[in-house]
Amino acid sequence: MKLIEGSLCSLAPLRFVCDEMLNGLAQWLRIAGYDVTMPVEGASDRQLVEQAQAQQRWIITADSDLLEFSCAPFYVIYLAAQGECERLQELTLRLDLDWCYAPFSRCKNCNTPLHPASDREIQNFYPQASKLDGQNVLACATCRQLYWEGSHVRRMRHRLEAMNSWRDALSPPH
Ligand SMILES: [Zn+2]
Repeated sequence: MKLIEGSLCSLAPLRFVCDEMLNGLAQWLRIAGYDVTMPVEGASDRQLVEQAQAQQRWIITADSDLLEFSCAPFYVIYLAAQGECERLQELTLRLDLDWCYAPFSRCKNCNTPLHPASDREIQNFYPQASKLDGQNVLACATCRQLYWEGSHVRRMRHRLEAMNSWRDALSPPH
């Protein structure tokens, strides 16, 4: 993890704030289990940097203006690639990012840590609750989204594994 060696964040777990343009990328990071917030709506670049410093988060941005802040080497990850898939790949290679860090431990929509759903939550949040009998179901207390090992979650798990395979390109051959 060369990029953050010696920085204020080097000892902390990886935490991020993503600029508004990168919402899709933020969702993938949350699916992988990383703590990712978005800036307050209408926040200026300076406010975004202040938020990152106050909360000890890396800013992931597609806006090169943020590189002009003096603290940028410690807080700003600027992605030059265009397109979501290319940006995910660039981020993977820059950070040697582990996409199987803690899959489905956070809500992809709002970043809240997930908890095992109670029977009542399943019944209240999902009208066809009987279909989920016996399954391991997780819930978000904030937006009431449920997550279980259905085909949608399986597809996302496969995508995480596929993104991890980008890191193999970094490893020296054995
Ligand atoms: Zn949520």
